[in-house]
Amino acid sequence: MKGGTLPLLGLATLLLSAWSARAAEWHVHKHQGRDYVTFRNVAEFYRFSDYQQANRTVSLRSDRRGVRAQADKSELYINGVRFFTHFPIVTQNNESMISAIDVGKIVEPILRPSRIDNAQKVETVILDPGHGGTDTGGSNRWGSEKEFTLHVAATAREQLLRAGFKVEMTRTADSGISLEERIEFANRIPNAVFVSIHFNSGTGGNGVESYALTPEGLPSSTGGSHHAAAAANGPETHEGNQQDAQNISLTAAVHASVLSRLSAHDRGVRHARFKVLRHIRIPAVLIEAGFMSDPVEGQRIATAQYRQQLGMAIAQGVQNYNAAVNYRTQDAGFTIVRTNLPPHSRPITEPLDVNQPLPPLAPHEPSISITPGG
Ligand SMILES: [Zn+2]
Repeated sequence: MKGGTLPLLGLATLLLSAWSARAAEWHVHKHQGRDYVTFRNVAEFYRFSDYQQANRTVSLRSDRRGVRAQADKSELYINGVRFFTHFPIVTQNNESMISAIDVGKIVEPILRPSRIDNAQKVETVILDPGHGGTDTGGSNRWGSEKEFTLHVAATAREQLLRAGFKVEMTRTADSGISLEERIEFANRIPNAVFVSIHFNSGTGGNGVESYALTPEGLPSSTGGSHHAAAAANGPETHEGNQQDAQNISLTAAVHASVLSRLSAHDRGVRHARFKVLRHIRIPAVLIEAGFMSDPVEGQRIATAQYRQQLGMAIAQGVQNYNAAVNYRTQDAGFTIVRTNLPPHSRPITEPLDVNQPLPPLAPHEPSISITPGG
């Protein structure tokens, strides 16, 4: 898609949110032909009480939320969780700016998941243990990916059933099923979400990365995934793009929950056009829950205890997503891991430029974040 249309689409989404919800306005700046907004503007719009820019780092804080970014990087931390942005953070006139598209596609659905259009209450969770049969996936001296993913899914299933969800699995044994069959299976089930579970391989890598389908026309994030070759990178629309906002929220919720429980290295919430994500018509996430090829992490993954923790964390992430998009925050403990945020030591040096007083925030408005307690 040519440059002109997409930024406008992103901007339209933003402006719509602004007019319908708040008095704060967006002030758009052009940077290399793309629409950007300043982080100061983001702070104003989302009512962060504290805005700081020091050297190349900008941070927004309020009582329960935080956003942090660094100039020239294509990443962003929201409530301590790492997200890869579609376009780099830039600086203009000493102001850090983020693309309007990244605000619309990442910041908005993460900070205000309860406003996502058409987000359904989750009735069924479809767990998709990666690989199976002759397709073993990755392997190390302790086992193969297909066995480990099945065990993680089985643990997640137990936890989700206890929490009152229906659960379907694309496979319950060591059977070979194609990606098309998995997709077809998932698309038959209403009010469901799809969670594909994998482990990573690749030299020098460790940690957890989670993928949502790349929105139409936008660049994907590169990753350490051995599945990267299976990801098309064309700009065409996929069925899965009908729920970009749900996809990123679900992905972030699962990712944050896993990081919190397993204390793994955060390789970020990323975007890719994996085949298994492209044609899913329900919200979907693919998690690469650690590197089998890493000597330390590979050995951890090989322990039943680690996989049980992982399964429980994935289940909790789905529950957190469901609570966030349905306002049920009291049930789910959406709080912030403050240690991941920069120190909150200095006051704002300049007042925010607001035209009129803003209405108070909804008292229990949720955001996707890490749950406490590890
Ligand atoms: Zn895999």
